[in-house]
Amino acid sequence: MGGLGIPDSTRTGVADAHARPAAEIAAALGVDPARGLDAAEAAARLKACGPNLLRQRRAVPALRILASQFASPVVGLLAAAALLSLAWGDRVEALAIAAVLVINAAIGFTTEIRAVRSMEALRRLGAVITRVRRGGRAAGVPAETLVPGDIVVLESGDVVTADLRLVAASSLAADESTLTGESVPVDKSAAAVPPETPVAERAPMLFKGTAVTRGSATGIVTGTGMATELGRISALVEQAAPGRSPLERQLDRLAGHLIWVTIVLCAVIAGVGIASGGAPYLMIEAAIALAVAAIPEGLPIVATMALARGMWRMARQNALVERLAAVETLGATTLIMTDKTGTLTENRLEVSAAVPASGEALRTDGDIAPDPGLVDALMVVVLCNNAELGSEGRPASGDPVEVALLRAGAGAGLDRAALEARLPRIDTVPFDSETAMMATMHRDGDAVLTCVKGAPEAVLHHCTEIGGLGGDEPLDAAAREAWLERTADLAEEGLRVLAAAWKRGGDGPAYSDLVFLGLIGLSDPAREDVPAAIAACRRAGIRVAMLTGDHAVTARKVATAIGLAGPDADVIEGRTLKPVAEMTETERGRVLATDIFARVTPAHKLDLVALHQAQGQIVAMTGDGVNDAPALRQADIGVAMGLRGTQVAREAAAMVLTDDAFATIVHAVREGRVIFRNIQRFVTYLLSCNLSEILVVGLAVLSGLPLPLLPLQILFLNLVTDVFPAFALGAGAGDDDVMVLRPRRPGTPILTRSLWRMIVGTGLSITASTLAAFVIAHQVLEIGYERALTVSFLTLAFAQLWNVFNMRDPRSPMILNDITRNPFVWAALALCTALLLAVTFIPFLAEVLRLERPGAAAWGLIAVFSLLPLAAGQISKAVSAGRQAP
Ligand code: ADP
Ligand code: MG
Repeated sequence: MGGLGIPDSTRTGVADAHARPAAEIAAALGVDPARGLDAAEAAARLKACGPNLLRQRRAVPALRILASQFASPVVGLLAAAALLSLAWGDRVEALAIAAVLVINAAIGFTTEIRAVRSMEALRRLGAVITRVRRGGRAAGVPAETLVPGDIVVLESGDVVTADLRLVAASSLAADESTLTGESVPVDKSAAAVPPETPVAERAPMLFKGTAVTRGSATGIVTGTGMATELGRISALVEQAAPGRSPLERQLDRLAGHLIWVTIVLCAVIAGVGIASGGAPYLMIEAAIALAVAAIPEGLPIVATMALARGMWRMARQNALVERLAAVETLGATTLIMTDKTGTLTENRLEVSAAVPASGEALRTDGDIAPDPGLVDALMVVVLCNNAELGSEGRPASGDPVEVALLRAGAGAGLDRAALEARLPRIDTVPFDSETAMMATMHRDGDAVLTCVKGAPEAVLHHCTEIGGLGGDEPLDAAAREAWLERTADLAEEGLRVLAAAWKRGGDGPAYSDLVFLGLIGLSDPAREDVPAAIAACRRAGIRVAMLTGDHAVTARKVATAIGLAGPDADVIEGRTLKPVAEMTETERGRVLATDIFARVTPAHKLDLVALHQAQGQIVAMTGDGVNDAPALRQADIGVAMGLRGTQVAREAAAMVLTDDAFATIVHAVREGRVIFRNIQRFVTYLLSCNLSEILVVGLAVLSGLPLPLLPLQILFLNLVTDVFPAFALGAGAGDDDVMVLRPRRPGTPILTRSLWRMIVGTGLSITASTLAAFVIAHQVLEIGYERALTVSFLTLAFAQLWNVFNMRDPRSPMILNDITRNPFVWAALALCTALLLAVTFIPFLAEVLRLERPGAAAWGLIAVFSLLPLAAGQISKAVSAGRQAP
């Protein structure tokens, strides 16, 4: 394209791509399909056409976040207070309040921008990677960076990320329901269709937002972003916006209610104070300061921060949460339905036994002994195979079952390339978990050879003959039965068993009139950390059920080995499962009580999830295939596999395991619980601190005492003692305590009744202590109002700091618990203490806050009375823990 620049069509899209030959489209878009665009060209086009996004979901601009800090009622109140001070001629106070306003906005801004950016970065971790050909090489690029002219390579299970004109397609079908509403996959092929063909019938096109359900394809990107069919209708499609989670919404509501309660309360305090002879200016200012301090406007943002932190911790432990709401649901999970292969097991399969049709079982440790009876069976599984054995530097790729079969074949001197040279493949019936079989057709001279491998029941069902060294013999029902027994024997050892079969001739259905050749048993070790993870679930009141496509006996064997079930556990096979509506009460009871399901298909998974959900269970369910998408969507937490899963499954899931491991789900559940508990804690903490401030001032005013806190002091407390410890509580990493509790009931409010009791209890005890210290200082020690004021200020401030330790779980040890082990808590306490000492001892600051150096006696008062609420809290916890103990 030298000199010509970017073809115009890249910007406008190619409107009639379906009606013209692929080669013409490639030329129009300036690309050679065999080579793809060069990196520089792709970059230039990306600049010209913009990212491949539906709506410009750009990062939230910092300026907007900053502006939003000034749109809260708190800012209005502070501004009013500053103006009031100015009107009263108190310039220092007005300036100080203005400073508070700025600091308040700065804290809000930094917190929010960090939370927002952190969430944005998390979202980028989950970006879809599309395989393209660029500069003659295969590469994976983020779907956002696709440009018109890119050559995309797709296979079954992939999500289509731009509009494509097919260059080549092999038995391709796509689910276009997102675009057309039609749920049956439509066949696709590269041949051009008439220009007037409606979108739903354009066979040579693949559209953004649809999914490949079968086959493989290569296509040229003809449109990206808004210049796609989906883009054209996207005004109608609600984009999966990064909405707020129910938890954040609950906090928004709580904060919203509390604002009004606070404002009314403060107005009453001011009214009463003025009516009983207080100075109006002071009373109004105190009321405003109280309102500012008590309005929990920070709750939602601290929650977002806690969520973001928790999600990062999960990401580091290989769990990517794709939906914010999933975090809290995770913590409430009561049932994990997991598949076996690759999740509970390593997915590092190895052929470890084989039984040729002609003879005795062969033990093998690695290599298959070249038994003459086994050669045909091995040849079939090597030919009927889509995996690749790696060569030097390149790892093996493909289904681990097939990789293991290739290895076994290679051990017996059967190399696929050599075999295929003699028997070139002409067609494929891909593996499908519904049939549990796969077939390939090969040209053998003038004839056709069909090779089949799959689950023994399925394959044997279609076999009419059995291969022997002396020639094929008929396979009767008794012999078939005997081979099923042998299958069970191999499965009894925990092996995954496949049968091999073939036939001469390729007409008629692939799975018919087959000649049975033998059984192959593959071992797949359980992942090391699985037994511990299952035990952890048990302690945490979470049930684990295994849903596998494998043989019932293999399933039970593996389940027993990892401690999921006992050796006599009931196993239900998929084919015996009736639709839920047709089950009798007893049948349903049995299904609900069973932990192992074998030979299940994705449709069974969907039914089982729904059945358990109807019983009030919160179900996390794993899935990897295209057909798993409905079950993943139905589950409360759909869990997709990052390594072996399809993009379709990923898109349907709420969480992706980047290591495919079961233990990762359990880690994520733990994090979900920790996050919820952290949020409960800082809300409880903030509200009990706020309540104590309101009560201290309110009760003093009502009982005619002089103010024990001045407006600026209240504002200072709000900025210092409330904020940092609350952040620290929100950032706690938690400990394993959370995994000994029963799952939280879904819909439990953040503040349970016992937490409200705790808020009121600690609020009252801090108030009582502060007022007592004030009264004693003022009336017993007679140290003067200003000094007594310092005593009440510092007592309240320190009492609030020590109050963090009251946030521990009643069941946890008093000294060593996850709060005392949280380094952020100690950092917050150190910082706050330093700030409090600074304002007390640095003359300029002390003057602004009207603090006087307390003497030794006053310090004694402060120490004792600030510690009393902590002691009271710990005693009440000990009592309530004692009551709960068995
Ligand atoms: P799961 O992954 O839950 O164990 P699958 O649906 O993948 O179940 O497999 C079900 C059965 O299909 C397996 O037990 C095996 O007998 C058979 N099978 C698995 N992979 C293949 C394959 N690549 N080709 C043929 N048959 C297979
Ligand atoms: Mg599988």
